[in-house]
Amino acid sequence: WETLEYLKSLGFKVNPNNRRLDDIKQVEDYYQTWVEKREKLHYEADGIVVKVNQLELQQRLGDIGREPRWAIAYKFPAVQGTTRLIDIGISVGRTGTLNPYAILEPVSVGGVTIRQAALHNEDDIRRKDIRIGDTVIIQRAGEVIPAVVGPVTSQRTGKEKEFKLLEKVFDKEKNRPACPVCGSEVSRPEGEVMYYCSNAACPAQAQQRIEHFASRGAMDIRGIGENLSATLYEKGLIKDIADIYYLKDHKEQLLELEKMGGKSVSNMLDAIEKSKDRPLGRVILALGIRHIGEETAELLAREFHSLDALAEASREELMSIETIGPKIADSIIAFFRQETNRDIIKRLRESGVKLEEKPVKAEALPLAGMEFVLTGTLEAFSRKEAEERIKALGGATGSSVTRKTTYLVVGTDPGSKLDRARSLGTEILNEAELRNLLNRKA
Ligand SMILES: [Zn+2]
Repeated sequence: WETLEYLKSLGFKVNPNNRRLDDIKQVEDYYQTWVEKREKLHYEADGIVVKVNQLELQQRLGDIGREPRWAIAYKFPAVQGTTRLIDIGISVGRTGTLNPYAILEPVSVGGVTIRQAALHNEDDIRRKDIRIGDTVIIQRAGEVIPAVVGPVTSQRTGKEKEFKLLEKVFDKEKNRPACPVCGSEVSRPEGEVMYYCSNAACPAQAQQRIEHFASRGAMDIRGIGENLSATLYEKGLIKDIADIYYLKDHKEQLLELEKMGGKSVSNMLDAIEKSKDRPLGRVILALGIRHIGEETAELLAREFHSLDALAEASREELMSIETIGPKIADSIIAFFRQETNRDIIKRLRESGVKLEEKPVKAEALPLAGMEFVLTGTLEAFSRKEAEERIKALGGATGSSVTRKTTYLVVGTDPGSKLDRARSLGTEILNEAELRNLLNRKA
């Protein structure tokens, strides 16, 4: 709260509707006032966020992955409307899923005109008994894609039709169901709810894979966004993710592209070169293996240290890793079995993309065997950065001061940890001393 006040005093724009509240009753009341007043805001809001104010408590609560335990969204009830479901279309996703979506008679819900809405999968459509031609209830909640909640069965005329995905994508010439984008066979793996296009080189998948590969959480290549990846794909300059690293051989053609000046071409090529050194976890994530998110990708990098080792891992080896179950293991194995994928990896390697990471022996590192506990606010780096630097040098970090604690690092406004460290005789470092230590040992 003080941080927000301080930012305000410096002239930064801080939301004037922020409040510091004393108990949960006040939170509830505050929420209710906004449920009523939300329409009056000049921007869209889908709820409020409730945060624990004390930094000390925030730190003790910690986080799971990217999600802090000390902040939670309290969403407003969704806005609903009804309209007619004209048809159900199919789009092909990055991992090859055939995604049904609702094509609607345009309707205004909460001030926004809605023409399309998400339908999750065929089973879901059947379970909710949604039929083409139905009057359906549409729900909008914040930024998320509107969804079809269900049909208004009382308004049925008897002309509504049941949706069958395989009939929808049936290709009469081929006399079989086919991917609406590339015409390849579609299949539904046992135990899964989605149908997939079987073609790893399916254009719909390829383009979205390129976009995912270059995205910020993955290889972070500035300049290759949705539009450019579509253009590069259409012009045939990139057919798969490995082609990104060979764009430098096509400078002439890049310069001919609309909206690409000499400067933006060279910026993009620089960004591509820089991305060759991303940590292995990012590379694994960027490949777009089904079911592999950020945390799993990092875990696999730590376990295998190279893409080759991961590619050769057996199902048993993969499953022996905690948090990896059969679904993820099978998906990894299926990915590396595909010849097209192996070829992509080969070309990534040849272009100089780093596909391994040295396993670091913790014992050999300068801070090995030392445990650091941090308290209070640090000035020059965030707590996370400080912890990462300590860990990178082999040190451990803890959340409470014990006899095993080597150093307590004290920022401004230290909490009770300082008293505890003093009573245990733990060595205390201020931020500057920590920085010196890290620089000296690095
Ligand atoms: Zn396809």
